[in-house]
Amino acid sequence: MTQPLQLKAYAKVNLGLDVLRRREDGYHEVRMIMQTVKLFDLITLQKNTCGQIRLSSNLPYLPLNEKNLVYRAINTIRTAYNIPDGVDATIEKHIPVAAGMAGGSTDAAAALVGMNQLFSLGITQEELIKHGLTLGADIPFCIMRGTALSEGIGEILTPLPSIPACWFLIVKPTFSMSTKFVYENLHLDEQTKHPDIDGMIQAINHNDLTGITYRMGNVLEQVTQKHYPAIIQIKENMRRLGALGALMSGSGSTVFGIFTSREAAGKAAEFFRKDPGIKQTAVVRPFSKDLPQSKPHKNH
Ligand code: ATP
Repeated sequence: MTQPLQLKAYAKVNLGLDVLRRREDGYHEVRMIMQTVKLFDLITLQKNTCGQIRLSSNLPYLPLNEKNLVYRAINTIRTAYNIPDGVDATIEKHIPVAAGMAGGSTDAAAALVGMNQLFSLGITQEELIKHGLTLGADIPFCIMRGTALSEGIGEILTPLPSIPACWFLIVKPTFSMSTKFVYENLHLDEQTKHPDIDGMIQAINHNDLTGITYRMGNVLEQVTQKHYPAIIQIKENMRRLGALGALMSGSGSTVFGIFTSREAAGKAAEFFRKDPGIKQTAVVRPFSKDLPQSKPHKNH
């Protein structure tokens, strides 16, 4: 039996999320600023000799069959590279589920990367990203990580410089959101407030945290705030407690705030922990990586 391999699967937030249009095939064309944060699940992979994929998790309600993205990621690599061995995978969840933080996608991304290592397959990141895209639109970014502009349905990724040092306060309310429900109820019209994604890219290029937080915006809030006004309240409280900016991540229900000091973020976290409407809080740093000078990354 080989040694188990453990991988950190990092969550993401959207500093900006714009939807340009609904395509004929039902997918939405987006422009998003993605940011990896140091809140992570732990994925452990180990070869087994029974030839099956067996999952376990600390969360009792997580599906442990082909409905789990980790299962599908392992299976994708096994099939593509004719691997006869089975794999035991444990998923230690810390990222809130159905919360707009790409929890399932990042677990799948870690499983793809892990399979490559476990079986010494030598798959390039570009190839892994292609496999990831067959499983979900957010998976390519979860493989790439850092800060990036995401376009198309999420598959056209342009790496951006790291954002300035700061602290993220992550607040997950007790209610969850279904991504499908939010997109189905999104009706774009002239009332829609589109975030200034290009302005945010400029602010990121200028290492300007105030400029970044000033431009934080998410068109999906127009759907979720109508059904869950608590999201507005959480954002207001974050700003009152010192956040430079506060926003719902992805399709929600997680709200995050950006703080310049860990102390202020921690104090705000204490405030939210006393609220029975809040299920989970975390204070984390953004995940940064040194970027090679790269061109836009397209996967079609
Ligand atoms: P996104 O931000 O990409 O929209 P999300 O954070 O809103 O995703 P997830 O946490 O990925 O949502 O969970 C969405 C659904 O996916 C859940 O209902 C869950 O049962 C299912 N799922 C499948 N695999 C996983 C996994 N490894 N971790 C969490 N959820 C998973």
